[in-house]
Amino acid sequence: MVLTLQDAQQRDEADPLHALRARFALPRLPDGAPAIYLCGHSLGLMPLAARADMAAALDDWARLAVLGHEQGERPWITYHDALAAPTAQLLGCRAEEIAIMNSLSVNLQLMLASFFRPAGRRRCIVIEAGAFPSDRYAAATHLQWHGLEPAETLIEIGPQDGQECVREEDIEALLARRGEEIALVLWPGVQYLTGQAFDLGRVASAARAAGAQFGVDLAHSVGNLPLPLRELDADFAVWCSYKYLNAGPGAVAGCFVHRRHFETDRPRLAGWWGHELQTRFQMPQAFRAAHGAAGFQLSNQSVFGAAPLIASLGLFHEAGSERLREKSLALSRLFTELLAEHAPQVRIITPREPAAHGAQLSLRIGTDPARSKRIFRWLTAHGAICDWREPDIIRAAPAPLYNSFADVFTFVMRLAEALRAA
Ligand SMILES: *Cc1c(COP(=O)(O)O)cnc(C)c1O
Repeated sequence: MVLTLQDAQQRDEADPLHALRARFALPRLPDGAPAIYLCGHSLGLMPLAARADMAAALDDWARLAVLGHEQGERPWITYHDALAAPTAQLLGCRAEEIAIMNSLSVNLQLMLASFFRPAGRRRCIVIEAGAFPSDRYAAATHLQWHGLEPAETLIEIGPQDGQECVREEDIEALLARRGEEIALVLWPGVQYLTGQAFDLGRVASAARAAGAQFGVDLAHSVGNLPLPLRELDADFAVWCSYKYLNAGPGAVAGCFVHRRHFETDRPRLAGWWGHELQTRFQMPQAFRAAHGAAGFQLSNQSVFGAAPLIASLGLFHEAGSERLREKSLALSRLFTELLAEHAPQVRIITPREPAAHGAQLSLRIGTDPARSKRIFRWLTAHGAICDWREPDIIRAAPAPLYNSFADVFTFVMRLAEALRAA
């Protein structure tokens, strides 16, 4: 395959989603040149319409002050509802199963408080070896919170020797072997470092067969992969909104609670905003949970942390999950082919099968981490924005909402140059 920049640009012209790129603020370098931004797995770009949603929230505050709670253009008391419905559409579940609140790590702690209930022999948590630190800390500290010793009760499943990725059959085998000891399985949709996308349906079935609760961390999945949560049968899910969802740094995160848990008296860490709305402001002493996931809210909505999400969810709705996934796979295919041709010494550790990856490709260059890091720094200095994760991984993700085929082409050409320069 010999592909030129013009070929890539022709593919952009034929791409039905290409026009959406103009609806984002594309970052520029200090000299004004456009950057090649393949970092949406870490922080998504700003939808231009986010300014108007932020301005509307600021205007309501300026104009109405406290009355904005009820009289705002989007009243703050029910602001949550404007976010839960489109999020549910994106995630393929019911709006009542969604709470938009807090940050990911906080939501994970709250969900573990409700769903990790060790009893008798069943007191272990299963996670992946190499989990994102917050997830590991959350699991380990919940074990300690219950007086358990993580060295004995935190079970980590890693790749087989010499492999980068975890096989679903190894998860199934462990859950079949030690199922009676396991209270909860916490698993990611997409692994943050390797970019591996898991067959969550398989993990969910294995967790259920073992009698364990199943929670998923969708930080790298929402806005990246089609996610019919209604088919997945997880007990809970958590995610952040600033990666593929483009809601801005530290944006309000999300949480899913399966409707089978609505009527149970499952314990929860409660706050006044989770109280049913009809009587919330009578300031009752006894907590009565609002229906659904909304009953897990603690505090009043962080309106400025949530406003940009409205614009972003609108763009996802326009694009459609299927078309986005189709484009994402085409971008990955081009990325892989160009790397093989122009940078053959770069190894892609993300699995190749389409079902086992999202937008992100994780790259390892040779065996010298110091040289890899020099290459990464060269890329950044030359306007190709990706990121570095210890010990020696470069992550790059063409996001189908705003990245182009030409972006992928230019990125690989820069990488080839970097390899020659370092
Ligand atoms: C990005 C990410 C987080 C980040 O947590 P915050 O609470 O949003 O800072 C946590 N877990 C995983 C798996 C992530 O990818």
